[in-house]
Amino acid sequence: MDVTTPLRELPGVGEARAKGLEKLGLRTAGDLVGYFPRSYEDRRQVYAIAEAPVGELCCVRVMAAEEPRRMHIRRGLDVTRLKVVDGTSAMLVTFFNQGYVRQALHRGEEYILYGRVELMGNHRQMTNPQFEEAGRPWACGRIMPVYPLTAGITNHLLAGLVERALHELPPPAETLPGDLRARHGLAPAADCWRSIHFPPDEDALNAARRRFAFEELFYLSLGLALLRERRSRGQGPAFGETALEDFYKLLPFALTGAQRRALEEAAADLAVARPMNRLVQGDVGSGKTAVAAGCAWLAVRSGWQCAMMAPTEILAEQHARTLSAMLAPAGIEVGLLTGSMKVSEKRKVLAALESGALPFVVGTHALLSQGVAFRRLGLVITDEQHRFGVEQRAALAAKANTPKDPPQAGCRLCGEGGVEEDFSPNVLVMSATPIPRTLALIIYGDLDVSVIDELPPGRVPVKTVLVGESKRQRMYGFVRDQVREGRQVYIVCPAVEENPEGAWDLKAVTEYARTLGEEVFPELRVGLVHGRMKAREKEAAMAAFTAGETDILVSTTVIEVGVDVPNASLIIIENADRYGLSQLHQLRGRVGRGQHQSWCVLVSDNRSPDTRARLKVLTQTNDGFRIAEEDLKLRGPGDFFGARQHGLPALRVADLNTDTRVLKEAQEAAAGLLAEDPDLSRPEHRPLLEKVRRLFAEDPDRFN
Ligand code: ADP
Ligand code: MG
Repeated sequence: MDVTTPLRELPGVGEARAKGLEKLGLRTAGDLVGYFPRSYEDRRQVYAIAEAPVGELCCVRVMAAEEPRRMHIRRGLDVTRLKVVDGTSAMLVTFFNQGYVRQALHRGEEYILYGRVELMGNHRQMTNPQFEEAGRPWACGRIMPVYPLTAGITNHLLAGLVERALHELPPPAETLPGDLRARHGLAPAADCWRSIHFPPDEDALNAARRRFAFEELFYLSLGLALLRERRSRGQGPAFGETALEDFYKLLPFALTGAQRRALEEAAADLAVARPMNRLVQGDVGSGKTAVAAGCAWLAVRSGWQCAMMAPTEILAEQHARTLSAMLAPAGIEVGLLTGSMKVSEKRKVLAALESGALPFVVGTHALLSQGVAFRRLGLVITDEQHRFGVEQRAALAAKANTPKDPPQAGCRLCGEGGVEEDFSPNVLVMSATPIPRTLALIIYGDLDVSVIDELPPGRVPVKTVLVGESKRQRMYGFVRDQVREGRQVYIVCPAVEENPEGAWDLKAVTEYARTLGEEVFPELRVGLVHGRMKAREKEAAMAAFTAGETDILVSTTVIEVGVDVPNASLIIIENADRYGLSQLHQLRGRVGRGQHQSWCVLVSDNRSPDTRARLKVLTQTNDGFRIAEEDLKLRGPGDFFGARQHGLPALRVADLNTDTRVLKEAQEAAAGLLAEDPDLSRPEHRPLLEKVRRLFAEDPDRFN
């Protein structure tokens, strides 16, 4: 066996299991060593029957007192039972549907069982324990790793494979410099690889965990610091225009203090030749679009082009519409670019961007495609930042590096031969997802932050209620009341594309919209919008709702982010239990955008106390930060930032919630290193730089 040996060739694997392993990202023997356990089982202590702690997973050493008896209970249910004993007591062991036990266990032989001892009256019993021969224990008597698994792959199989790989392969190379390890008291890699899988004791496990957590956070910090450093060195476009008075006149409202502050902070960045990299964070409805518009206005007034990227077509179209209306009086044209536009329309926009005739374009990730080039891209805005990865943001910014722009210089993150202009455009990102502090540091480590912590005046907080099926008719009555008062209503169903598990299929959504339109509300105008519709149809449905031509909009979660129809005062969310809290909060943000009292009705018949407690949080608060924190507690950071969402290297060991001390240490170490060697250009730092590059992007050029 060597690191490249395909797993299919290992004994006990075969085609089917190789497929399963591949699902876990494991292809070769070398991959096994890097596949870290999710948790551990302490099987060191082996108990006698009478001493085994009741109700806890543990090892018990026993002798089979009889041959296992198999009983057929009914179709699909077999029970195999036997009595086991030790010197002092006896216990009944039951296996469900594990007929092979009859061949595996024999009277008079000794075994170690791993499972939970339960008390039935005075009798002890165990159900479905794992077992092995007492004379040749493998899993028992030590700390066993527990791996993330998939169908057809048992933990035993995986642990066995990992152990073989550890035994037969040379340990992976050391990835932290010796002096750094010495300074931070980190164990050498060679020792840690074994201990992270099969730790001899807690101390060894903690040392290995600490080392790998440090390593992950160190490289993450190093990468982010390099980005930040590169930015501070970089040349950016300085916008000559800084007075905002004329922009304020374009707005139909006066900005809130918080909006004004955010815009002024951005304007100060924009005025100097250092590229801006700013995050504007503000809860749903806080008015981030106006801040973006102000920045775009400054860019265009100074002769630069601006590109704004939104995560959905609906949102891009809406932004194009509102920004166009807002900026037209200033003579600023706003174009639209989405994937589903007609080729001829796209061509027109592309040509206008390349020639510089079109100063401002709003679009989806279609903006990232090859054919898009700008003449003088000076400002890049991404809306709903959490929907995009770091690389996507960077990829759009890279569009500023057209040959027409200022001179080129080497780039440390691009690798040998890769050149990047030292020129970067100004970048503004906007997010409504409130990020708990520790995570913000990591996720947005390379950004400056403005917070809009104030809602526009006159907003009445949205009232949220949780109802079950029994209230459906009353709820429909409430819909009629709202429409009678001139308001509009969203009804949201979990969609196929967003929420595979238990989601409605398209037919169900369409059918529900039809029923509502024809049977429940024959007197009202009901529209439908979902992600699988053609762009034209989607646009038409949204436009009709925005114009007040439909009363009710049935939709999938495509309306989740950013959509703005101030006259909508009620949002009904079907099967609310299927969403995360932050997502529900985003959905709820579709209403409460005007001066009317607005409502959010969460429909769920889920009786689980956990689910109800979770949904109750929304009925109690409108505070996005609190909701995000609850979400984080309930789901953990892994889910909170699915890897796709932030585009940062995945953390396998480090836990941002608990490893805050290691994080701080790792960040200081990274900063210290860069203070000595800001380019990581010294030969001894070369491997570090290589590793950062590999971690941050498979294709380092995307990271420009
Ligand atoms: P978000 O921060 O969620 O992107 P938007 O920018 O879509 O919020 O703004 C929400 C709504 O509030 C829009 O209808 C917008 O026109 C309105 N709005 C924004 N700022 C103000 C303000 N200062 N005063 C009144 N209304 C405002
Ligand atoms: Mg928005």
